[in-house]
Amino acid sequence: MDLIKQIAEKLIKSSFAVVLTGAGISTGSGIPDFRGPQGIWKVLDPNLFHISHFYSDPLNTWKLFMNEMYEKIKDSKPNRAHYSLARLEELNIIKAVITQNIDNLHEKAGSKNVIELHGNMKYAICTQCYRKYDIENAFNDVKQNKIPICPYCGGILKPDVVFFGEPLPEKEIRQAFDLASKSDLFLVLGSSLSVSPANQLPIIAKSNGAELIIINMGETELDYYADIKVDEKVEEVFPKICKKVEEMIASLSSCN
Ligand code: ZN
Repeated sequence: MDLIKQIAEKLIKSSFAVVLTGAGISTGSGIPDFRGPQGIWKVLDPNLFHISHFYSDPLNTWKLFMNEMYEKIKDSKPNRAHYSLARLEELNIIKAVITQNIDNLHEKAGSKNVIELHGNMKYAICTQCYRKYDIENAFNDVKQNKIPICPYCGGILKPDVVFFGEPLPEKEIRQAFDLASKSDLFLVLGSSLSVSPANQLPIIAKSNGAELIIINMGETELDYYADIKVDEKVEEVFPKICKKVEEMIASLSSCN
């Protein structure tokens, strides 16, 4: 049986399918993989996005973020893999998407239950009271050479993305681990699973009895652990799976 059909069947049979996405789902939208050979970290010094650099020079870190990251990503559009995930959520097959991406493309595609482990670049967050604001307002200050300040408590605002050296957001991590342990089918799309703690999620899922499917161009650190591994581009293979699910559902309902 071909893999597309096999995965589609597993999705339809599942009662709690959870997906983890990484940079590989967004390369099809023109966003370079941060860590890859053409990645952002080959051009930009990652030390400039260390939390200690942010606190030592917030204004310049804001400028770098705005010009070198946000401006290059903000107009990206979701690709067919993002839309397929949103469609499968609409069909109540996928229950949640956990993502390591900050590009907001899952929301743009229409996914509702999205857990963002590394934040979302469309917000600024207060480093004191953790209130969130539209990042465009913060950019207005940055453009006038002012460090964006929380209007509520006066704390310094920071882009709401996880910097190097910074812990992941507690609530999201808790939600992600909870979802992984509840899932009976766990899919990894476009992640090489080299970043902790996200790479522990498939292990938690498997140890609670879930099946693990990995779709990623290239090896991942958990290939040996997967029930099915598809070594192809996510944006090419996942829409086919979604289409197969729709066809199978249609043929099921026509029998009733
Ligand atoms: Zn505040």
